[in-house]
Amino acid sequence: MVLDDLGSSLRGTLDNLRGKSRISEEDIQDIVKEIQRSLLQADVDVSLVQELSDNIKTRALEEEPPGGTSPRDWVLRIVYEELVDLVGESTELPLEEQTIMLAGLQGSGKTTTAAKMAWWFSKKGLRPAVIQTDTFRPGAYDQAKQMAERAEVEFYGEPDSDDPVQIARDGLEATADADVQIVDTAGRHALEDDLIEELEQIDRTVEPDHSLLVLDAAIGQGAKDQAQKFDEAIAEGVDGVVITKLDGTAKGGGALAAVNETDSTIAFLGAGETVKDIERFEPSGFISRLLGMGDLKQLTERVERAMEETGAEDEDWDPEDMLEGQFTLKDMRKQMETMNKMGPLDQVMDMIPGLGGGLMDQLPDDAMDVTQERMRDFEVVMDSMTEEELENPRVVGQSRTERIAKGSGKPEERIRELLQQHKQMEQMLKQFQGMGDGDMERMMQQ
Ligand code: GDP
Repeated sequence: MVLDDLGSSLRGTLDNLRGKSRISEEDIQDIVKEIQRSLLQADVDVSLVQELSDNIKTRALEEEPPGGTSPRDWVLRIVYEELVDLVGESTELPLEEQTIMLAGLQGSGKTTTAAKMAWWFSKKGLRPAVIQTDTFRPGAYDQAKQMAERAEVEFYGEPDSDDPVQIARDGLEATADADVQIVDTAGRHALEDDLIEELEQIDRTVEPDHSLLVLDAAIGQGAKDQAQKFDEAIAEGVDGVVITKLDGTAKGGGALAAVNETDSTIAFLGAGETVKDIERFEPSGFISRLLGMGDLKQLTERVERAMEETGAEDEDWDPEDMLEGQFTLKDMRKQMETMNKMGPLDQVMDMIPGLGGGLMDQLPDDAMDVTQERMRDFEVVMDSMTEEELENPRVVGQSRTERIAKGSGKPEERIRELLQQHKQMEQMLKQFQGMGDGDMERMMQQ
């Protein structure tokens, strides 16, 4: 993820400010150095880094913190605001009828992004359609069609045509009933003239309401030139950037240069190969997350979505009960299903304020390590348990363990693991319950 380790290194530096009543120039220098190191490592453009550093220095030394604010909180706030400023606002994409064109080099992730965005819009209650005009890359048609099927959205393409402009025209007509028409265009390995020409023609035909440039997070310093060329080719210019492959090792900082160059903003982030691996870019949430402040909004959205999908609103299952202190094996089962739908646990954990640092350290390493395979085993085990045992796992002693092991065909060890896992999750929930609102706030500010 962009600026991946900024959060932890910065927290360390900021901790040096604890208990101080004044901030010295030296303190600020240390913090700025830390930020510069992380940003440059993440491939952020040098001039952008310089500008950010200057702003932080000036503000931290010249502006007067409001009464009652500790120097640490004050500096953190400035850093936060300046970083939000650096990454910019999220591209405006109102939930209404519109045509969106995607542009980018071959392999940047356009086709995948088209399906992901269609999925995203469909979850927002709109009817999207994907129009595939890439006649250049063999297999683009099949790939786009398959992904659109997975996203359960309308798809248009002409596998035997070699005229992208005509496909775009036909596609817009054929999917005229859709609310959001997403036009995927062809890429090339490099910015060849015929790519630019083709894009210009499609652009003039489609007249998109929004044109998004899709960039691989690994792009680095080449982003600037690329962005500029695409920006010139599109009549209304690039108005948003999608950064893909953030699940990999790439840092994504180069994309910030593209955003700056085209005077645009970031629209979406892609982090995975399935249609669901997309999130709307939210500057404040993004920065909070990398500063280790958590992103509650994203987490809530994901939880809600996952709950809808698992049917967690079962009549006999009420998450509220869980927060009030009863945590049964049935809850745990629902919890595991929900967690599984939300995506990798470490990502989910990152979004919970304070969890990246403090609370997680107090838990055993494997407290949340419910792998798919273990989950399947646990489910089989739970199927062999009685209602009483599921409601109150404490009644399961040695003889019942033997019976459940026989019934489920799983080793006794697995039953003990399940009970252990349940205990750990229960313990974690208790910690959450023990946290008052004030504690939560304090954690978020840390
Ligand atoms: P296009 O040529 O621009 O249409 O690129 P594709 O959509 O075909 O993507 C190129 C490759 O990158 C494919 O193998 C995709 O599965 C993969 N890909 C796209 N987006 C992501 C992402 O966010 N994460 C990962 N890991 N792979 C991605």
